[in-house]
Amino acid sequence: MIRSALIKRPPLFLSRRQHSSVTTAGSALDAYKIQASVPRLSLHLLPGEQESAEDPLVRYGYVRQVSAGSYHLLPLAHMVQSNIADLARRHMVSVGGVEVSLSSLSSPALWERTGRAANTELFKIKHEDGTSGESESARVQYILAPTHEEEITNLVATNIAASRRKLPLRLFQITRKYRNEKRPRGGLLRGREFLMKDMYSFDVTQDDAHRTYDEVANAYRAFFESIGVPFVVAEADSGSIGGSLSHEYHYLSPVGEDNVVTCHTCKYTANVEKALAFPPEEEDGAFMGEAAVQYFLSDDKTTLVAAYYPPDREFSPLHLLAELPEDTINAEAESTGIEVAEEFATQAKADDDEGLFTRRLIRVMDARLSRETNLPRLPFHANKGTTTTMVDVPLVMAQTGDLCPSCDDGKTPLAVAKAVEIGHTFYLGTKYSAPLNATARDPVSGSLVPIEMGCYGIGISRLLPAIASITADADGLHWPVSIAPYHAIVVSKDAEAATTIVKELRAAGVNAVWDDREDVSFGAAMRDARALGFPVTLIAGKQYEKSGLVELQPRDLSVQQLKEKRGDAAFQSSVKDLPAKIKELLKL
Ligand SMILES: [Zn+2]
Repeated sequence: MIRSALIKRPPLFLSRRQHSSVTTAGSALDAYKIQASVPRLSLHLLPGEQESAEDPLVRYGYVRQVSAGSYHLLPLAHMVQSNIADLARRHMVSVGGVEVSLSSLSSPALWERTGRAANTELFKIKHEDGTSGESESARVQYILAPTHEEEITNLVATNIAASRRKLPLRLFQITRKYRNEKRPRGGLLRGREFLMKDMYSFDVTQDDAHRTYDEVANAYRAFFESIGVPFVVAEADSGSIGGSLSHEYHYLSPVGEDNVVTCHTCKYTANVEKALAFPPEEEDGAFMGEAAVQYFLSDDKTTLVAAYYPPDREFSPLHLLAELPEDTINAEAESTGIEVAEEFATQAKADDDEGLFTRRLIRVMDARLSRETNLPRLPFHANKGTTTTMVDVPLVMAQTGDLCPSCDDGKTPLAVAKAVEIGHTFYLGTKYSAPLNATARDPVSGSLVPIEMGCYGIGISRLLPAIASITADADGLHWPVSIAPYHAIVVSKDAEAATTIVKELRAAGVNAVWDDREDVSFGAAMRDARALGFPVTLIAGKQYEKSGLVELQPRDLSVQQLKEKRGDAAFQSSVKDLPAKIKELLKL
């Protein structure tokens, strides 16, 4: 039984002769023969009825949710995602990228060495036999990789002898990554499983690494331009690395979770976490009420920093860090409440009675505060001799109306907008190469030095919902031609006509699909063609029967505009001229 079914299964690739013998009649298996040369919409797992979901990808049958934070991509979504991945691949290859595919099962020992094993968003797979060990890494068998700095640095360090290492090296991959998001939200935008393009660069000198960074950043711009959806490049926080070589690529969109500031005068663009926020004149030093405060302690607990700011604003720890000498405080402390100040006082008193006289208090005042501002009481008596006060510091996250930190006149107001982060370029220096002992020979000194690295990510599976939500309108999805699952959909009840048109188009490089669904009315098929977001709908109906002319309906035009254009020669074509006409229309 099974055996005969296998034998009867149609071959994956049809010979030319089989192609020409395809008909729409016959057994149910013929549908698959036709799919091979004429894609049919009925095989794309579209739901029978439109879903009521708010997410357009769910509503129009592109994706299906499996559980919180995980999704199945149905055929049309997978085609869009593959197109995005192919574009990304092309641009990475254009800067000398070599593709690899690393295992998702990463070694916990490597994460211990770089100090990232404790991250609570890592998915960890424990030993099945319950092996217990002294350390976390002994209990954990694998980490499901959310990113591959550790593994790829280790690969370069151990796989190629340092003397033979030919740098620069630019390795990239497009693979599934995992992140144990505690409260997954925003659909595919922030799932627990995602497809990412990640590139890692390896250079011997810092100069070379910076040049690599610029080249990859240019390739990123070219990639996002080729998609065709407007984007911004924002200066981003470079974390503990320092320096200015960290940029984020964003779509400005209300569905985003990031906030990006832009200045319309000097074009300064930055993540709100990075942008210093100077108050407009009327707010400068004008706040009179009771200030809010956050406390930070140095690792050795001898310095307390109290940061004061208006309570209706969001405090920015990064802005505070930027003002203080390096390593003054531990900015990653979980608590910044009054108990931190109490701990400081207790420690001081425990040392000796004079403890408070030998310890430092640094008070940092946001630029909006005035001399009249009430400051919350400290839980100890501050000693003037060891207290430093810094005033006029921008300590809060920027809001629309704050002044641009980059404009010369210092008077241009910033605009803050919601954004979806879709890419990130990052100069890493020796952050990973040093602990993982990835070295190369310095051409000048001749000695082995840690490799200079960079990492560069593109959220491939995030681009799918981001672009969908930005380009969708009241009629449904609206894909840019660059990534559309098909360029054109043919709506026709005439199987022979549809088959001829689709074959003609595909032979000329226009990717077309036939809406062959028998139980769907013409009107519903037309609505679906728009809702599914194909760049152009082709109709072979009554007019085609009479005159052999196919009607073209570009998705860019509204239903009203299409009504007005009906009968316009520019939107009709013979089958023979159709490929050229569509290529011109879609700029293929
Ligand atoms: Zn500016």
